[in-house]
Amino acid sequence: MPFTPSPNIAQLKESATIAVSARARALKAAGRQVIDLGAGEPDFDTPAFIRQAAQRAIEAGATRYTATEGILPLREAIAAHANAVYRGSDPVRPADIVVSTGSKQSLFNACFVLFGADDEVLVPTPGWTSYYEMVALAKAVPVPVFGARSRGLKVTAAELAAAATPRTRGVMLNSPCNPTGAVYSAEELRDILALAADRGWWVISDEIYLHIAYDAPATSVLSLVQDRERLIVINGVAKSYAMTGWRIGWAIAPRAVAAAMTALQSHTTSNPAAVSQHAAVAALTDTPAAQAAITEMVRQFKMRRDAAMTVLDAAGVQYVRPEGAFYLYINVGGDGAAFATRLLDSAGIAVVPGSAFLTPEWVRVSYAAPIEHVVEGVQRLVAAL
Ligand code: PLP
Repeated sequence: MPFTPSPNIAQLKESATIAVSARARALKAAGRQVIDLGAGEPDFDTPAFIRQAAQRAIEAGATRYTATEGILPLREAIAAHANAVYRGSDPVRPADIVVSTGSKQSLFNACFVLFGADDEVLVPTPGWTSYYEMVALAKAVPVPVFGARSRGLKVTAAELAAAATPRTRGVMLNSPCNPTGAVYSAEELRDILALAADRGWWVISDEIYLHIAYDAPATSVLSLVQDRERLIVINGVAKSYAMTGWRIGWAIAPRAVAAAMTALQSHTTSNPAAVSQHAAVAALTDTPAAQAAITEMVRQFKMRRDAAMTVLDAAGVQYVRPEGAFYLYINVGGDGAAFATRLLDSAGIAVVPGSAFLTPEWVRVSYAAPIEHVVEGVQRLVAAL
């Protein structure tokens, strides 16, 4: 009998960003020279002080199940970071935090416990590919809200208001943004938060790239609100600490939501890996070492960004000027998917087609790669354009 997918996943598409990396890897395995500018993954090693903390934790016996919501020292460290910027009436406590197997799981769990059939969720677009699928897996309807080119494809509160209906239940925020690298100002975020509060929407703020910002620090929504009653803040160690493979992310949520997310997780994956949690404690509590590591990685990302922008500017290519994350979003003036396929097959450069982010005339270039690869990749991309 052929496999018929259940209705749960009938509409599900494979993550395009992961698919590109897989194809680039396959070409490399077949002996082709490929420059992979598709991956959303820092190319740095996890800093030594974190790796060493993990080794110590294994030897000390961190090899068993932990509490589903994560070990207390990690949740305390996350709360301390949050309360350093949140000045509201209800300080973040460990009980408001659920640690998961990556911020991807935290985002999914948040969508799954908050939204349901026929709910609409506004997704500033272009937005990270998995938001649309996660909302749909919760049986809700993702509603893309397109940002204007003149504002780096960011959306305004007015645009969100115009897309809302009586069924709107929430909005996904992501600053710095994947795929554009755009960073929302405090003022822009305040306007959106005020609208959401006025309408009673849930706000899910994915701040996974918060520490990777170039021209000025990026703003956490926690620094802008007085109460967190309908706010879920998502973060993790993957991008800022070069810890993608350790799989640690978290949600900071109102207590009842955190309890629901913990219950969901208790039936799906249980706790995230014990040793990874101890590694994350080191990342969040050894502040001087962490700060030094982040500063150095951001310095290198910025050099690559600037080098790539020099090539694009010289060629007059249209792109969003990235102020954070490690992506360049480039307008190719036609079918981005066809362009990406041609670029990979004929020039050996892997990029992600903008159709993954519901903007098909664009491609995403990751500059989380050695600077010579970034420059050569962008030069070949310009030539192909
Ligand atoms: N959110 C955004 C915007 C991302 O780009 C990614 C990874 O690509 C994630 C979340 C997932 O990160 P994690 O590795 O913590 O699951």
